[in-house]
Amino acid sequence: MKVFYRKEQSAAGTKYYSPSPRKPALAVKSWKNLGCQIQIVSFDPVTRDQLKQVHDPDYVDGVFNGILNNGFGDRNSKITTVLPYVSGSMVAATLNAYHTGETSLSPTSGANHAGYGFGGGFCTFNFLALAALEAHKAGAKRVGIADCDMHWGNGTSNIIQTLEWDWIDHYSFGPDITLARTDIGQWKNSFARRMEEMAAGVDIIIYNAGADPHIDDPLGGVLSISDMKQRDQILFATAADHNVPVVASLAGGYQDPLDPVLAIHDNMYRMAWVYDPASNYPNVPL
Ligand SMILES: [Zn+2]
Repeated sequence: MKVFYRKEQSAAGTKYYSPSPRKPALAVKSWKNLGCQIQIVSFDPVTRDQLKQVHDPDYVDGVFNGILNNGFGDRNSKITTVLPYVSGSMVAATLNAYHTGETSLSPTSGANHAGYGFGGGFCTFNFLALAALEAHKAGAKRVGIADCDMHWGNGTSNIIQTLEWDWIDHYSFGPDITLARTDIGQWKNSFARRMEEMAAGVDIIIYNAGADPHIDDPLGGVLSISDMKQRDQILFATAADHNVPVVASLAGGYQDPLDPVLAIHDNMYRMAWVYDPASNYPNVPL
């Protein structure tokens, strides 16, 4: 399975509450140890002009020129430097999935709270929206965003509304949290129906596979490991049933130390691999 990764997309040594800036390198290292097939693929960083397709140009320039805060609430140049690579990884993975049908991965996090003219919640630029747009420009008539981060994808929704996109099917787990807390079985059934509806209507699914809904997450607290595996399975199996390619990113996960978060991303990798139409190894233990 192809993983779109360059070391420039990680900001080693940053000490934020969110591990997102240092997570790409750690997730890739962990995936390499799984015993599943993995192919690291390079890519080009995105340009400011690409980002300005989904963000207010003044916001994009303001962040890069150190005049406006990034999504972490500061102007740390280490973050500014990695941002074009973070979005570049996701765009390249998305286009690969769309053009080849292969499940493709981007070990990136921190998109769904970034809106048209603002960042926040550890999200500076919305690479989910940008990836969706690039897929649409490449020929995808409708694009699905299945955002399974714990928290409502307010930024994605803001961009969709601001740009009046009518070719997007956007699901966000955030508004489903009450249902998931009250009756997990009912949420799984409803999620399965929702993914069925999405897969039936789109040409590619962008899966933001958040680790923060996990029951032990300090910002989450809903799903067990088994529930999360079933979530991943519902998504990848439903997409495969409909021959819809999937690209996946990582999203939130705030357990510290990070090992349980990496284990959740490992499970996602295995599930992606099992259902990848390009995989020849369908019997990997889950
Ligand atoms: Zn989150």
